[in-house]
Amino acid sequence: MKIQPSILIIYTGGTIGMQRDENGTLIPFDFNSIEKEFPAVRHLHVNIDVVKMTPIDSSNVTPQLWTELAHTIQINYENYDGFVILHGTDTMSYTASALSFMFENLAKPVVFTGSQIPMGIMRTDGRENLITAIEIAAAQRNGYPIVPEVCLYFQNKLFRANRTSKLSAEALNAFDSRNYPPLAEVGVNINYNTAYIHYTKGWFEGEFKPEPLEVTDGFDTNVVILKIFPGISEITLKAVLSVEGLRGVILETFGTGNAPTADWFIKLLEQTIERGITVVNVTQCVGGGVAMDLYETGKRLQQAGVLSGHDMTTEAAVTKLMLQLGNNTQKESVVKGMLESKSGEFGS
Ligand code: ASP
Repeated sequence: MKIQPSILIIYTGGTIGMQRDENGTLIPFDFNSIEKEFPAVRHLHVNIDVVKMTPIDSSNVTPQLWTELAHTIQINYENYDGFVILHGTDTMSYTASALSFMFENLAKPVVFTGSQIPMGIMRTDGRENLITAIEIAAAQRNGYPIVPEVCLYFQNKLFRANRTSKLSAEALNAFDSRNYPPLAEVGVNINYNTAYIHYTKGWFEGEFKPEPLEVTDGFDTNVVILKIFPGISEITLKAVLSVEGLRGVILETFGTGNAPTADWFIKLLEQTIERGITVVNVTQCVGGGVAMDLYETGKRLQQAGVLSGHDMTTEAAVTKLMLQLGNNTQKESVVKGMLESKSGEFGS
């Protein structure tokens, strides 16, 4: 008899977890009785267990939750075929990106999802998001998971987690991945774009023998995301860059990685980099990436020692930088780590 896949749902909070009580007040949903609430889940033929963390609005998420989540998955790794993480949408892309950098040897699906409308509201998008996320986490071919990555499922699309951003506070398709195609698109069927999913050599043919899952934790939060704008003043920039203990800057620039060429601007960046601070350039556009040798305005940053963040999202860049800084005291190691794509976060 074929054994049913086992999925662990980890509930962290957010809108998806809210339902109405008898007075119409929104209260946290009891995911322990998920099969009673959603009989449809039984038709998926999966065994489901639930771990409930203290539910929080994801605006209150800190690297502590990322660490707890990664270790919860590591502890339960051998006992489950896949993991579904229910998370508030506001910072889901940050958490999901962080986890994608923390794991080594990940060979099972870790699918993040949430909802824009609470589970307890008739028109909720949470029900479909949850059920499909479970189905994706359980999906196998030849006994091997179809999506052995950290990914994010929302409104009919599965994305590589560290390529996503929340782009709408209103639309039900709130997330997008502008620089990398969806890993799956969901209509009547779930159509996996296997060409874009990362597989180790020999996957599906049984040649691959997984190594134990390893977790790297330790985030250094002495970083800043600095979004430049026309009119940014020297005094503000100086104040931000001279914060005590600062070790990393994600510089959100214009277009393909361009910034003012004013002497004071370049000089401040040079002085910052000379102090051993790592500065990474990402675009403030929602799609595309930086190409610092295209314009003089980008070239000056490159000459000052600013690193290219390629086409990384800000969410991926800042979580990756925090993890690099938390695990390396030498700047060269941080630079090397930032310039290598660890989990498909940049490039094609
Ligand atoms: N504020 C909520 C959160 O991120 C929004 C949501 O879940 O959609 O936790």
